[in-house]
Amino acid sequence: MTFTMTKQHTIGELIRLSASYLESKGCSSARLDAELLLGHVLGLERLDLYLNFDKPLSSKEVEAYRQLIGRRGQRTPVAYLTGEKEFYAIPIRVAPDVLIPRPETEFVVDKVLEVVDLEASARVLELGTGSGAISLALACQDPRIRITAVDVSPEALCVAKENAQRLEVDQQIEFLESDLFENVSDTYAVICSNPPYIKRDELSSLAPEVCAEPALALDGGPDGLAFYRRILNQAASYLEQPGFVVLEIGWDQGADVRSIGETAGFTWLETVKDYGGQDRVVVFRWR
Ligand code: GLN
Repeated sequence: MTFTMTKQHTIGELIRLSASYLESKGCSSARLDAELLLGHVLGLERLDLYLNFDKPLSSKEVEAYRQLIGRRGQRTPVAYLTGEKEFYAIPIRVAPDVLIPRPETEFVVDKVLEVVDLEASARVLELGTGSGAISLALACQDPRIRITAVDVSPEALCVAKENAQRLEVDQQIEFLESDLFENVSDTYAVICSNPPYIKRDELSSLAPEVCAEPALALDGGPDGLAFYRRILNQAASYLEQPGFVVLEIGWDQGADVRSIGETAGFTWLETVKDYGGQDRVVVFRWR
């Protein structure tokens, strides 16, 4: 690290030094990261950091912060360092066993809420739940929603279950270890997923932060579409009538995923764009 620990540092100084260090290591949101990590060490919100700008820190606090900044400089994602990421206004615990929830995935939640009939069954199946983010957001939105959240990774399911207990929605979510539909037997009003969709040969060229995330949650096979084929070719057997499928996609996969769904007999309803104006979520209806 570029700052020494022989003299007392104020919050303001530490953030400035750390942000320029992180910038030199290629972190694109250096200042924000420096603030989030210091807030984590001190148990303070970012706003409170600003209110305490001139406060000196103890050497123990500085040392804890120094270590986190060092790891962030090696491009470990901030969320793995703080153990938490906000999604749909909910604090989600994360660990390196799960993908870090992304803001664009909130569109999946929005669309499920739009198509699900809360007066009817309101049963939702989430394939590849990871941290549980989508299922947790749905459960927190309405107590009538009942969800089966599956993942092939037992480690991911552990993280998701812990999140459900902490957020007190574990009564609404049933967790199931399953490779997509393998161990699923019921039918649902909505099937949703943010499946792995990165082309295999592009995995190694992703930002170092993304490479720190589980390949299992990112690797969409040679053309990135493997999971859309598997999901859409089997989904009909697990849907009620009417039934809907809501899938997150990569920015350039809209046409391909629509065609995979239509070939499997689904009616395409819409492709939703994300905050950056890119195709992000596809919605289908069964018949
Ligand atoms: N949104 C992630 C990314 O672009 C990919 C997530 C996924 O494969 N489902 O890094």
